[in-house]
Amino acid sequence: MTNDEAAFYSKHYRTEYFLLDREMILGDGDNQVCRFCGLNPTRVQFEKKAHAIPESIGNKHVLTYYECDMCNDFFGKTLENDLGRYSAPLRTLSLIRGKKGIPAHNKKGINVRAKDHMVHIKVDPDSSLVEYDKEAGEITLTLTRLSYIPMAVYKAYVKMALTMMDESDFKDFPMTLDWIKETDHLLKRPQVKLYAYTKFVEGLHVFPVPEVHLLYRQSDAPTYLPYAWLVLCTGNQVIQIMIPYSDKDEGFKNHLEQGNTWRFIPHPELLREGASDRLDWSGTEKIYNEPLQLTLVSGPGQITEEEGYDFSELLLELGLEEDFKKFMASRES
Ligand SMILES: [Zn+2]
Repeated sequence: MTNDEAAFYSKHYRTEYFLLDREMILGDGDNQVCRFCGLNPTRVQFEKKAHAIPESIGNKHVLTYYECDMCNDFFGKTLENDLGRYSAPLRTLSLIRGKKGIPAHNKKGINVRAKDHMVHIKVDPDSSLVEYDKEAGEITLTLTRLSYIPMAVYKAYVKMALTMMDESDFKDFPMTLDWIKETDHLLKRPQVKLYAYTKFVEGLHVFPVPEVHLLYRQSDAPTYLPYAWLVLCTGNQVIQIMIPYSDKDEGFKNHLEQGNTWRFIPHPELLREGASDRLDWSGTEKIYNEPLQLTLVSGPGQITEEEGYDFSELLLELGLEEDFKKFMASRES
């Protein structure tokens, strides 16, 4: 990482930052128009609470006036359903409460559930789904995601970005809007892979409420750069995605069409300590039984009881009580 890269976003992009820590309703309650279908209360209803960021990933407070009940239902059954299924195991481990509470993870050989602000893990001692590295003090769990369509998950994040935008910025994304509404995912414009850049940050309540960064290319920045990005921090996760198909992406599109390559530069939020990943969410076919590996303790003493993971059941079942006692003792010293 060079100094240029560290300053890349502050130099070339304007940032709109939102901390979703208080009750707020975005938009104009007196002149409601749905941002997603363009209809007003003479044609559609606005009775339901429309969350700016889904409740399932931890937003309790921020609603919008500009999502009608029809669009709310539509996105709930499509993109946001895929997102909920995709993120369920991580939500268990991060203790993020959705509409139906913190999801439990129940698979043959492994049971993970959240109770009393702790994550309780039970495993079959013969199961290969958990590995305990005594030397390193690491416990690695293999969970399984519910089935999901990668592109739908990507679009669910793009929808969050479109929701959080000011009206003046939103007008630059008509094609993006068409793209997320097309839930058969036939409208593919494969200029770039739809990558999600993620970081899993260990600890309890790293991001107790969602934080949203919307980044827009500055008018004096090179036009071959992508126009807009979303950086979202929720629970234990940072995720950065490009918001594709803006009207202001002509330069970027031409740059790629001329055969130029382009290199991703991570946002400073992605430079935190923790496990990084680059996920390809370009796929339009449903993914079944995708394993998700997580290492919960990277060293004795790093996680304290207040911080959340209760390994007692796990270690007891593995016959590792002695190690657990040592682990607890090492925390106290
Ligand atoms: Zn609508």
